[in-house]
Order: sequence, then structure tokens, then C-alpha cells
Amino acid sequence: MPPTWAFPEGFLWGTATASYQVEGDNANSDWWHWEAQPGRIRGGDRSGKACDWWGGRWAEDLDRAADAGQKALRLSIEWSRIEPEPGRWDPAALAYYREILLGARSRGLTPIVTLHHFTNPQWLTERDGWLNAEVAVLFERYVHQVVSQLGDLADLWITVNEPNVLAYSGYAAGVFPPGHTNLGHALQVMVNLMQAHAAAYHTIHSLQPSAQVGLAHHVRGMQPERPHCPLDRLVAWARSATFNEACPRAAQDGILRLPGRRVTIPEAVGTQDFFGLNYYTTEVARFDPRAWNELMARSQYPPGAGRSPNGFMASVPAGFAHALQWARRFRLPILITENGTEDPGDDFRLGYVLEHLHCLWNEIDMGAPVTGYMHWTLVDNFEWAEGWNLRFGLWALDPRTQQRTRRRSVDLYAEVCRSNSLTADLMDRYAPQVLERLLGQMKADPGARGQL
Ligand code: BGC
Repeated sequence: MPPTWAFPEGFLWGTATASYQVEGDNANSDWWHWEAQPGRIRGGDRSGKACDWWGGRWAEDLDRAADAGQKALRLSIEWSRIEPEPGRWDPAALAYYREILLGARSRGLTPIVTLHHFTNPQWLTERDGWLNAEVAVLFERYVHQVVSQLGDLADLWITVNEPNVLAYSGYAAGVFPPGHTNLGHALQVMVNLMQAHAAAYHTIHSLQPSAQVGLAHHVRGMQPERPHCPLDRLVAWARSATFNEACPRAAQDGILRLPGRRVTIPEAVGTQDFFGLNYYTTEVARFDPRAWNELMARSQYPPGAGRSPNGFMASVPAGFAHALQWARRFRLPILITENGTEDPGDDFRLGYVLEHLHCLWNEIDMGAPVTGYMHWTLVDNFEWAEGWNLRFGLWALDPRTQQRTRRRSVDLYAEVCRSNSLTADLMDRYAPQVLERLLGQMKADPGARGQL
């Protein structure tokens, strides 16, 4: 019998999106202003209409998702639309998000709503952004508005997408607004983000006791480049402790462990109902005393790992297994809130998806309590500092004409969503090299479960 790898009954299959990347015309957002500055976005790209969801094309994209067997949609709300000026709420924006959420539900797509996905109102960024001492209060006030108005349509909430990436990219690497390159700022932003998360968590529960609330954590495996070198081991550990572990641990025990600093956030204790995991890839780190903002480590992709066409992503499914094993320690249900790769041609993606889904199946079979998987992403969208240069969509998009084109990955993923399983036949049709590797391993070690 050719093998079949079946996922648990009721497993939630969907895609993940973010408001700024798909909506377009987000003129009150700090990213809109950032994009306009020369040199910020690769090739001078602009988000423009993005996927034109604000112009109404969300409806056709949600049709695509539902027709392709998907059962969930992760989407985000744009703070700058809800509160275009401090304390002024826009009822029309709230009404429009209502329409989108109703549209998702009527198509059988369970909404998973992110309240902050990288972008801020421009007025906040002009007032020190996430360094503002009042930011947690301001964020909580916005969350209160959204959940009190839209809470009847959603009960799965993500307060903040990737607090580690937001802090690092905006305040240490300087590639997101406000463009600071100061590690101390980035660490303070992590404190403020976790305070804001905790405040939002309690507010959501006070408005909606049955809500499930979490964060989406970007977990990027970090291995020493030279395993026998103690300094490489030390910096890989330090990077991972700060970048991967600090936020989820703070949401568990209320202590944010940062380099040289422990911050107690008592209100953050136990503020995750599920563990949202974004996994893309893994890196190896080498000690470099000059890389101060990078915690003295230079990192790169593991030599030998398959690379996406632009070199932006390496496929390291074993890192997904490690991330899942590590996430189990939090003793929460795990939701894969993002996983995917850029690939305009779609050959690399087919293999990437199958390798990662097989690995996910394996970890679930070993007991990982994973409840669903959101592929990043539904349609090519505005990829932050990389502009339109990187294509992560199941559907391709030509942003000039708004024309969507179905990639083969749509059909691959639809088969998985519909059958709730992977089969040898499916692998053989879409990425035979993945099946060959798996079968080879199973033959060499019949007891093995196939660990790619
Ligand atoms: C972010 C997405 C982004 C994706 C691909 C994730 O870290 O949440 O917004 O598009 O990575 O780079």
C-alpha cells in the first residue's frame, strides 16, 4: 500500500494575509510614508493598490480561497484605518471590516484576526512609535474598539504579529519604519510590545470570555555554524534566546529575559490561549564581535539547503520539526500561523510545501498538539522592504493589471485541504523528488517515520 499521511479530524487548513500587504491605498499608515522615501523599498516599489482589497477585490480572493477547499483565513485589521487620528474612530472602516468578516464566514472561512501586523498609524510613528511610553495604553484602546465592534464575527485573535521581527527590523536593522539602528531601542520595543499584548489579551477576554487569543511568533532556527566552536554556540544560543524565546516565555511567566536585562511584566503571565507559530527557515550563526546590533553573530543559511529563486528563503524542514518540538514546551495548542516561500516560478514552492507538511504530519503523529496550518499567502502581495520583488502567493498577481493567475501550488494545496492528508500519489505528481527521498529513508530504516 502506498503511504498516506492523514491529519487529525477537524484540522484547520487556510491561508494567512496582512492588511497593509493586500489592501492598498493605506495613506494614514506609517508604511505609506516610509515607502515614499527614496531607498527604502527595493527598486523604489510602492504598495499602491496592493491586491486592491480595499477597492473590493477581497471578495474574489475569498471566493478563490473557498473554492480551493480552504476553511480558514488569517487577516489583519489596519489600526491606521480604525483610528486615523488619535482618539477619532472611523465607523466606515469598521463597517468595511465587518463586511469582509461576514464575507469570510459566509464562504465557510473561519476568520483568524490579527490586530497588529507591522504597520502603525502615522500619527503614532510621529510620536515615537513603539518607544512611546503610552503605546500599550493606546494599543489597548484601539483593540477595545475593534473587539467591541467586531467581536460577534470572530473569536480567534492574534494581538501582535511577530513582536521580535517588528522590534528588530524597525529599531535594530532599520529596514522597517521608523528606521532606527539601535539595539537598546529594539529591546525596549520588545518590552512595550509585550505590555501591549498583555493589555490587549485581558481586554479581549473581558469583552469576549470565550475568545482564543495568542501571538504569532516568528521562530527562526539558529544553529552554530561550527558546532565545535564555543563562541558560535554561545552567540547562536544568545540570538535564539532573545529573538525566538524571550516573547513567548514572557507571555507564559511574565518575565522578559533580554541581554543584560530582566523585565517583569506580571500582567503578561498566562496570556496565550494558543501558540501561534510562523516558521519559514533556519540559519547558522558565526561569532563576529563587530556585529553588535546582531548580538555578535553573523548568520547565513545552512550550506547545502535548497534555496528559493531569489535566494531569500532556504528550505530547512528539519528546523520546522525543531521549532514544533520546542513550541510543545509551552503546553498550549499550536496553530501554524504562517509558513511558505517566495517563488514566482512555483517549482521550488511545490517541494517546500510538501516537505514542510510532511514534517508537520510527523510532529503531530509524535504528539504535537497542532490544530491548523495557515499557508503564507493567498495571493502575491506587497512584501515590505522587498516590494513586489518576492512572490509568496498561491495565486500570482500582476499589481498593474490586478490580474490573478493560478499557480500549480493552488491545486496541490487544495488537494491537501480537501482530503486532510498527504499521499504518495500527490507527492509523486507535484514534487517526486520529495517522495523519492522519503521512500529512500523508509527503505533504509523501515522503523523510521521519514524525517526529511
Ligand atoms: C511576515 C509577513 C511576510 C512574510 C514573508 C512574515 O515574517 O509576517 O508579513 O510577508 O514573513 O517574508
